[in-house]
Amino acid sequence: MSILVVGTVALDGIETPFGSADNIFGGSATYASLSASYFHDDVRLVSVIGNDLPQDYLQALEKRNINLEGLEQRADEKTFSWRGRYHYDLNERDTLATDLNVLKTFDPIVPARYLDSRIVCLGNLDPGIQQKVLDQVPDAEFVVADTMNYWIQQTPDSLRSLLGNVDCLIINDSEARELADEPNLIRAASSIRNLGPSTLVIKKGEHGAMLFTDGVMFSAPAFPLEDIEDPTGAGDTFLGGFIGYLAGQQLTDEATLKRAVIYGSAMASFVVEAFGPERLLNLNDRTIHRRLRAFRELSTIPAFELPLGSVA
Ligand code: AMP
Repeated sequence: MSILVVGTVALDGIETPFGSADNIFGGSATYASLSASYFHDDVRLVSVIGNDLPQDYLQALEKRNINLEGLEQRADEKTFSWRGRYHYDLNERDTLATDLNVLKTFDPIVPARYLDSRIVCLGNLDPGIQQKVLDQVPDAEFVVADTMNYWIQQTPDSLRSLLGNVDCLIINDSEARELADEPNLIRAASSIRNLGPSTLVIKKGEHGAMLFTDGVMFSAPAFPLEDIEDPTGAGDTFLGGFIGYLAGQQLTDEATLKRAVIYGSAMASFVVEAFGPERLLNLNDRTIHRRLRAFRELSTIPAFELPLGSVA
């Protein structure tokens, strides 16, 4: 199944307690498409950049065979840029600046060759733009979306209207609480699912991720790591691994969705090991398989007898 990814391609400024850097390659579409490219060879990008994105950043996407026909390049404007600072607890971060630049007037045109995309991945972006992309791919079989507090606060109405057209929403725990206006995550999950998406994934940083779908609640841990350098892009990388796995499957049933959560978590565990998307540029199948296996061992509960016998 071909995958269309829309989102930001960005220049990031990142500050962590252990170091900082400017003009790092980033953006939701960058991380999601790089991550998905390890599981699928037909990943198609829709985004916009200005005149200041280094050529080798684009070459990094091309090297992973990501289709860039839908990447608009503007000669007289600047690329979207974001600056964030992480706290000592890396689950906490402050956005210091968001410069929309080219995004302010982005009117996405999905190339004719992308119109048969089966999975549409609406990476974190203005929900109005996410909807415009979706309108152009009416035959998509599975629509997955991400969003963040910025859009929950700035564009609540268009976000709610988009959610009515989405099969699966992937957001983090604080965003879920904010979107539902409900502190309890289980209650928040049920009210978000009432807005449209039948499947919801709530990411909880180093505490893992939860999946909610019809009658099912599933919880996966995050892969425990000793060295985390930069959490930027972990959520988008999760999204890429999740859809990358789904694209190779025929179904989106309960078991497949649970496995997709593990694939997403495994990919996210790589990206945080280095600054920016560095780690996503040079992975190989063997390294990914090893981590997936370690993940399975980490989370498998040996079968056990229930103390009261059969109390059916
Ligand atoms: P994550 O750490 O997964 O939340 O993603 C971080 C990436 O999201 C960075 O590379 C940013 O460029 C990008 N980003 C930050 N703010 C926004 C926004 N408001 N809309 C879209 N992308 C954003």
